[in-house]
Amino acid sequence: MNIVNPPPPPALSPELFARFVAIVGDKHALTDPAELEAYVTEERNLYRGHSPLVLRPGSTAEVAAICRLAHEARVALVPQGGNTGLVGGQTPHNGEVVISLKRLDAIREVDISSNTMTVEAGVILQNAQAKAAEVDRLFPLSLGAQGSCTIGGNLSTNAGGTAALAYGLARDMALGVEVVLADGRILNLLSKLKKDNTGYDLRDLFIGAEGTLGIITAATLKLFPKPRAVETAVVGLQSPADALKLLGIAQGEAAGNLTSFELIAEIAVDFSVRHAHNRDPLESRHPWYVLMELSSMRYDARGALEAILERGFEDGIVTDAAIAASITQQQAFWKLREEISPAQKPEGGSIKHDISVPVAAVPEFIAEASAAVVKLIPGARPVPFGHLGDGNIHYNVSQPVGADKAEFLARWHEVNSLVYAIVLRLGGSISAEHGIGVMKRDELPEVKDKTAIELMRAIKATFDPHGILNPGKVL
Ligand code: FAD
Ligand code: ZN
Repeated sequence: MNIVNPPPPPALSPELFARFVAIVGDKHALTDPAELEAYVTEERNLYRGHSPLVLRPGSTAEVAAICRLAHEARVALVPQGGNTGLVGGQTPHNGEVVISLKRLDAIREVDISSNTMTVEAGVILQNAQAKAAEVDRLFPLSLGAQGSCTIGGNLSTNAGGTAALAYGLARDMALGVEVVLADGRILNLLSKLKKDNTGYDLRDLFIGAEGTLGIITAATLKLFPKPRAVETAVVGLQSPADALKLLGIAQGEAAGNLTSFELIAEIAVDFSVRHAHNRDPLESRHPWYVLMELSSMRYDARGALEAILERGFEDGIVTDAAIAASITQQQAFWKLREEISPAQKPEGGSIKHDISVPVAAVPEFIAEASAAVVKLIPGARPVPFGHLGDGNIHYNVSQPVGADKAEFLARWHEVNSLVYAIVLRLGGSISAEHGIGVMKRDELPEVKDKTAIELMRAIKATFDPHGILNPGKVL
């Protein structure tokens, strides 16, 4: 995708270049095009940027020095963590300097009594989860990219994932943040407090800001009790409406112990089976699938899961179900779900949406969006899947079989407009968990409250008066 404005920044003078390099040292300033490649491209090849320089600071003080110089010299910076973001927010589209936080990967403190863990921004999510497990706690943020995304990126995008149903989004798991402001000042909000009503909540401004208001360098995260039992099932059903009924039964039976409830269309299972070599745990194919998980400390999760499924069978909602009999099987169920996105690649172009609507409106959304998309592009194949329990559907549309990929992808915005109109009519959001980045930047003013946009612009101007932090993203 071509990203045009803002105008490219002027080339760095050799003197400025050298001053930036001196902050991190030669070894951590990348200039070789081969080394830069991984920072200017992204996994899906949807965006390709360019940059003269990637800086890899090793401390908050170095991040501060970089920002101070960039602010003084009006040099644009693009913060980057694991480079797994899905809306082009971490890509230097206009030749900006990339500031990679990956070397800030220390776990500063684990405080078991307070149930907190203070980690630096570059800590990989999976490592944060493992550290929590080591002390018999749970850090519940969980998503497909967890092996490479970072805590800084998770907070900056306010990531959701598969456990948001029970634990909320990244914002709900952060007690405090340490942030370097655009002018290099360090804002220390690394509080462990649950209760702290001392004025405006600045922390929450940086969470979900996609690197446009400051650079997160560390965070104090909440830890939770580690579940003693986790039970997972794959369920076959006839429709999203039946899945919604099953969700109601499950929430009635398991309440907060229901930690995941993922809806998957048959075509998504088919792609994941054929292209990612996963196994459909059910004996025959079903039009819709649900992957549900219950986690608990003392409560009989297995008994509850069986009771939910039994009710589902009795009510004619569930047509088949498989309960994982081992951890290996549990992992296989999740692999089937996690590999839907990559399994879409061999099917050609895919036009993506990450939307949310009120949970009750999901069946109506899917039905209307699919009818509209297929009417617009006959043969287009909707591949809806996602977090039904949060009303968040990844409404992807694969190209018609045999169609021209580029021609199909050229209709990206046309398809988006059609789908977003339905989302908005149902009271939903055009970005449930991936953020705005550049992908949805131009749509944002059309869908968001006008006063909210004015306030967002005013906040941006206050925090980053010279517009050096991730210019052209979000706003
Ligand atoms: P990056 O991609 O490097 O950056 C993302 C944004 O944050 C950019 O705007 C960047 O400028 C900014 N940023 C990064 N670090 C900092 C920092 N320290 N300070 C300030 N700004 C910063 N998301 C979900 O919410 N739920 C999912 O289930 C989910 N599944 C995914 C599955 C796959 C396979 C992939 C590839 C992505 C998925 N995502 C999901 C997208 C998700 O947003 C990212 O994976 C993750 O949160 C981004 O972390 P990152 O470290 O890779 O950030
Ligand atoms: Zn998701």
